[in-house]
Amino acid sequence: MTFVSIREVAPRDGLQNEDPVPTEAKVALIDALSRTGVRRIEAVSFVHPKAIPQMADADEVWATAWHNPGVRYSALIPNGRGAQRAIAAGFAEIEVVVSASDTHNRRNLNRSTEESLDDIAGLIPLVHESGATLEVIVATSFGCPFEGDIDPDRVAAIVARVRADGADRIAFGDTTGMATPRRVRDLLSSVRPDLLHFHDTRGTGLANILTALDLGVTEFDASAGGLGGCPYAPGASGNVATEEVVHMLHDMGIDTGIDLDRLIEAAELAEKVVGRRLTSGVLRAGPRTRLV
Ligand code: ZN
Repeated sequence: MTFVSIREVAPRDGLQNEDPVPTEAKVALIDALSRTGVRRIEAVSFVHPKAIPQMADADEVWATAWHNPGVRYSALIPNGRGAQRAIAAGFAEIEVVVSASDTHNRRNLNRSTEESLDDIAGLIPLVHESGATLEVIVATSFGCPFEGDIDPDRVAAIVARVRADGADRIAFGDTTGMATPRRVRDLLSSVRPDLLHFHDTRGTGLANILTALDLGVTEFDASAGGLGGCPYAPGASGNVATEEVVHMLHDMGIDTGIDLDRLIEAAELAEKVVGRRLTSGVLRAGPRTRLV
């Protein structure tokens, strides 16, 4: 393996789980990330402003941010209305979430997993008509804070359903940082995603990524500075930090296209934007080369 594709999720997943910040700050963060060499950025989500006030200005953010032609930008949507907004805004890559845990899906989306799968089946033709692709992110794939263990067969059945319905890509989300290398091996031995989204809530983020790399996965989400907390554990860390992932991969001789110094600058900006210290080890200590 010589290249790993990172999707930077700080502007969406990160900021959505922080206190609301001004539009200009969101644009500045997207622009800083667009200069790092990262090839993919999850930029915004088109959700109802009452449900998620952090993303109320998604249209304005996207209209103002730099669209680097070397970067693939994506948007997350919760439903058909969100899909229409993402399509109108010109996104070519759209993501939708369904939870493997029925309880988590009901708390998050106010409907059963089955109902969400039916909704997604209806969304796919709408997205495809616009020329965009739809990625289905299966949340709580490695465990659920309400239901505990999730049977890999259940995740596999969801994947089979959405692939049959025409989903273009599948991601597995470790929504509350319950994955461990053992769980990664167990799930990936029954079903493969295109991309993995790990949280580092309990310190296993990089170990999980290494395990998945060994199993042949080459696409990962990560968030500059580890921006974005854990929605069910106030104060806990959430997304795996992009600079930690990149620092490790580059030392293994695996390219990401990312300039680590520029990425650290973007993570420093993320820290300023949210006004609190982020916990990323590489952000705190700097890369090895800065220690001389
Ligand atoms: Zn996340």
